[in-house]
This record gives sequence, C-alpha cells and structure tokens, in this order.
Amino acid sequence: MISKRDLLAHSLDVTGIGRMLRAARAWNGVLVLNYHRIGDPSDSWLDHNLWSATAEDFEWQVAFIARNFDVIGLADLEHALNQPRGQFVMLTFDDGYHDNFSTAFPILKSHGVPATFFIATGFIDSPHVPVWDELAWMSRTTELPFLAENDWLPSPVSFVGQNRAQGFRQLLTVYRTAGSELIGEYLDFLADALGTGRCPAAMSDGQWMTWDMLREMQAGGMTFGGHTVNHPILANSTADQQDWEVGECRRRLMEELGQPIDAFSYPNGKPCDFNEFTRAALKHHGYRWAFSFSGSYCPPNYADHFALCRTAIETDIDLPQFRAVTTLPQVFS
Ligand SMILES: [Zn+2]
Repeated sequence: MISKRDLLAHSLDVTGIGRMLRAARAWNGVLVLNYHRIGDPSDSWLDHNLWSATAEDFEWQVAFIARNFDVIGLADLEHALNQPRGQFVMLTFDDGYHDNFSTAFPILKSHGVPATFFIATGFIDSPHVPVWDELAWMSRTTELPFLAENDWLPSPVSFVGQNRAQGFRQLLTVYRTAGSELIGEYLDFLADALGTGRCPAAMSDGQWMTWDMLREMQAGGMTFGGHTVNHPILANSTADQQDWEVGECRRRLMEELGQPIDAFSYPNGKPCDFNEFTRAALKHHGYRWAFSFSGSYCPPNYADHFALCRTAIETDIDLPQFRAVTTLPQVFS
C-alpha cells in the first residue's frame, strides 16, 4: 500500500512543487536524524526494522545532507540551537551495532561528516541478543501456526504466512509495555510456548562494536552518548533502576573513552518511555542533552534540552522521501 507520505513525497519530487515550497517555507533550527543499522537485512533472522538504510542509500543520504545543510556534531549543538536562522542537521545512531563501525563510519569519514553514536554499554561489555532481535528470531523460527491468548498475550497471535510479521509486532508490544523485571520471564514463556527455545547466544556474534572500534571512531571525529546499560524502557523501570542505568552507562563510556559524556538517548524514545525520574537521573549524573524518538526538528531556542526531537530514518524511506523529510520536516516527519 502506498502511504500518504509516500504519495506526497513523490509528487513533490516529480512536479517540482517541492522546490517552490522549499524556498517559501524553509525550516530553521536543528534537524536530528536517527539511524540504527546500515546494510542489507535480507538474510538476517533478526529484527529487520532496525536496518535504517542500505549502504548505498546511506551514502547518498550523507552526500545530500552535506551538500544542502550545515551538518553539525554534538559540540556545535548549543550554538546551533541559539541561531535565529539556519538549517542545521545532526546524524545520530542508537544501540551500538557493528555495522555502525564497519559500514557507516567509512562513509561518514569519506564525506567529512560527524555523527553521534548512543551506546547501550551492556552490548559492548557482554555482547548478547537484545529482546527485539530475540522476538524476531522466535517469530521467524517457530513452526507453530498460532498462539492462543493467555496471561501474557491479550489476543491470539498467528504466524501463518503474511501474519508472521504482524505476530512479531504483537510480541513486541507486550515487551514494550511489561515491567522491566518481567522480560526474562516473558522470553522464557515464549521460548516454551513457541517451541523455539531461547535464541542461541551465537546469534550475537559479530553484531556489536567493541571498545577499540569506538575509540577508533572517536579518533576519527565521531562522538558518543549514553543509551543505558541494559536498554530497558526506562518508564517501565523503578526510579532506582533508572538512576543506575543512566549513571552506569555514562561511567563506562567515560572510563573507556576518556572524555566527558554529555548526551543521552532514551531507549524506544517515545514520550511515554521516559518520565520525571529519568530526567532527575540525567540531571543527577551530569548530562546536558537527551534525545527522544519523536517530533520533527528543534526550532531556534528550543528550550527542553532533555526532550530534543529526532526524526527516524527507516528502511522504507526511499530517496525522494528522504529529500522530502529533510527539506520539509514540518510536513513529512
Ligand atoms: Zn535503542
């Protein structure tokens, strides 16, 4: 199905109306783009939604951004937010996947473009399969056609044919709303009910960056921020857990990278995924900036530095859509 955004983006591209709109209603402020993984997911058993762009599309996107906007790093954010006019773009990545180093970093370097990488330090310190990837693996490998509703699942889940992707989304929704302390129990339940067992640890081999890779990227002009240790959805965690997740990931990043860590991005990042305890923890541990996963761009003098807007770049965004999202974020993101 073609979405409204898709239709609009393509007609703007084809008719040239986009050029007019760009001139007439240019945005001002800071547009922060968010990526997760770069590459081709087609052979992977893991969560395909995490792939934001192929290497070719990412290369095109970086070149387009560098040509059309002021690309800034984290160090320039305060200055950029204080400018009454200007189109500043920041590139960010979440989680710490290996392709950030092997695929994205060389492309960024070749265009002289900085980016900020938000790292869940637990994936670097002890590489393991994250919940969303494990749920994707279970959904792909189960031979069960159907799971009846039960104490965990409010409605039946089908894994037949085209329903498999929807089934995965249903499993994901339960994970996103359950208390952090229940997730292990939920995965054990599914492992048994779906007949898949838990995802083999070897599935995480080569999935994550190492501290040496992060240091090489830092030497190459990239910056880093916190994204918790264990990637819980913070609003589903107690105030004490949140404080530990927020503080400990900063401590590990500073220990390994030898530089202050000023920025954080919220796991999942929707307004319901963090709360006043999260903000208190960020302040307590000395962060200056925190990025959400909603909104479009930050207009000049945007005041809430613990809820900076970000625009998600996802696999289904093709090049005309990318052009539309970045030139008219107020309409398309
Ligand atoms: Zn994340």
